[in-house]
Amino acid sequence: MRGKSSRDLFPYTFREGQEEALEFLQSHFPEKNICLDAATGFGKTPIILSVLLMDEWPVLWTVRTGNETDRPVEELKAINEASDGNFFGFSYRGKRDMCLLARDRDVDSYRGVSTLCDREKENCQYYERLKTGFNPERLAGKPLLYSEIMEKCREHGVCPYYAQQELLGYADLVGLSYNYIVHEGIGWAIRNKLPFRLCNLVVDEAHNLRRAGNVNSDKITLGTLRYAIGEMEEFDTSRGSEVREFIEDMWSEAEIEDMWSENGVAFIGTVKGDNLELERWDMRSAEILGDRWEEFRSATFCSGTLKPIPAFAETVGLEDWEGSSFEAGFVRLCPTAPFPAR
Ligand code: SF4
Repeated sequence: MRGKSSRDLFPYTFREGQEEALEFLQSHFPEKNICLDAATGFGKTPIILSVLLMDEWPVLWTVRTGNETDRPVEELKAINEASDGNFFGFSYRGKRDMCLLARDRDVDSYRGVSTLCDREKENCQYYERLKTGFNPERLAGKPLLYSEIMEKCREHGVCPYYAQQELLGYADLVGLSYNYIVHEGIGWAIRNKLPFRLCNLVVDEAHNLRRAGNVNSDKITLGTLRYAIGEMEEFDTSRGSEVREFIEDMWSEAEIEDMWSENGVAFIGTVKGDNLELERWDMRSAEILGDRWEEFRSATFCSGTLKPIPAFAETVGLEDWEGSSFEAGFVRLCPTAPFPAR
């Protein structure tokens, strides 16, 4: 932002520790990935935004659940107000939250909404209006919370889900769930409009990533398989029966918990009452996640519980990083890393 500094963007009077945190970020961004540990209420969000927004590239602010996507957008509003700025940003939500047709028809489940859209999109009045009469520039003026996008799209009769995709190209900040970043299969909708290599990633409450061992992992029960076989038999009797035979054989042999692994992927079979659960668990989470961070221009991780930071960085496969822990009143250095160098 021409003629301004990060200090000008910070929308509040600095409290103890906050200036140090801002300077720490400024001195390493964007050359290094950053781990910032500070308690809830310290003001991590406005500090990080004040530094990252000075860069010309957009910020992808990721949070654990869709419900938390509004938080950075609220701070963006405060930054605009305090600095007379004109940053645009919004909360990005999935189809289940954004489909107007599903609301009209009382469809609520994730799968139900997804199927509805696959089937009806080409005939959907909201999609039709989006394609014929929607000008994203008219919405991309002020930061928008999820509820504000819904309200405006409802008013104009356009599909909010696809409207937000059009808005991606105008955004200085997008608040969205980790899932779009961590799980490769669902991030395409974002990356098509906002190539990750041009984005500065923020992972909020990043300690949750320690539990991201379930990346590329999945499980299914015998009950679900039997249900699926039933559906297969409805359409193709021979294939359904073949699979049923295979599953029944496997079931008769699976009397105890069993586990085998191949190339870092474990396969676990667990007998649960009269059901069998089959689990594929990818144990290479550090490797998988590490590849994700590499895709971005920079990555910043923040939380109140990142310590010990070196262990956190190792768990999530982070390289080339600087980390520090801040508390109101004083700065505590990363235990194994004398500030500022690691
Ligand atoms: S195009 Fe939009 S409103 Fe229409 S079914 Fe798909 S998500 Fe729902």
